[in-house]
Amino acid sequence: MTKNEINGVALVTGGGSGIGRASALQLAAKGASVVVADLNQQGIDETVALIQAQGHEALGIKLDVSDPQSVDNAFALTNDWRGSCDILVNCAGILVVQPLLDFPLDAWNRLMAINLTGTFLCSQRAARDMVKKRYGRIINMASISGSRAGVGRVAYGTSKAAISGLTRQLALELGAYGITANAIAPGAIVTAMTEAAYTDVTRAKLLPMIPAGHLGEADDIASAVCYLASPQAKYVNGHTLAVDGGYLATGMTQTGNLELK
Ligand code: NAP
Repeated sequence: MTKNEINGVALVTGGGSGIGRASALQLAAKGASVVVADLNQQGIDETVALIQAQGHEALGIKLDVSDPQSVDNAFALTNDWRGSCDILVNCAGILVVQPLLDFPLDAWNRLMAINLTGTFLCSQRAARDMVKKRYGRIINMASISGSRAGVGRVAYGTSKAAISGLTRQLALELGAYGITANAIAPGAIVTAMTEAAYTDVTRAKLLPMIPAGHLGEADDIASAVCYLASPQAKYVNGHTLAVDGGYLATGMTQTGNLELK
């Protein structure tokens, strides 16, 4: 893909860090006008500065995806800046890891409000403008935790499984308007969200389960975001794309006396 293959306005939630930041940078490099929307003002400022250093303009907006008024405000500011949002990348999210038996209800509610309801609110708001233009791209962040249970991930994994379901629903109800909705299920990607979790001990246990043999980078996910955001992806709709080094494809790595080399 070369520069200018992605036109229009891309709003990236969670754009102040990790996968959202990498997506914002790649989208800007390929020609999109990027809105960096996040709860974290310092993260927003850093991402906007990185995009400007690439020689592109970007707009930073403070946004709480779990608050409908804040979502409305972010889209109103986007529309004032460059016309309405053509590409929505829902990257804002949080991770809470606690055992099922002790999982606090307030943590469950907060996580669902950000990861799931936030994705719904931003998608619904974006779609209301996209249907008028009969064009749009919605890209949601699911996770391998939405397909495989992980210890302590009762709320996180459930929210991510629901994001794949929400994505199918968006695809069905918006497809006739020239809008596609897809999700990406990242594997183990080192970001601010996960770096503390990937200790040497965890990596040693995880790596044999990843055929690629290494953890992923935010740019690996951003590349998939750019494909799904492109006009060329017009017939991909309702799909959750695993970008996980083969983790979800893997079952037994040894059987009888035959062992994977
Ligand atoms: P990250 O580096 O922590 O970035 C997430 C960003 O979202 C942060 O800037 C965070 O701000 C922001 N945010 C949190 N709550 C928000 C809210 N209510 N409204 C707006 N922004 C909010 O995490 P990441 O690893 O890039 O993750 C991005 C997405 O990918 C998430 O949905 C995550 O679940 C998903 N994912 C990540 C991985 C992985 O291995 N990293 C794997 C699978 C899926 P604060 O800094 O203030 O919290």
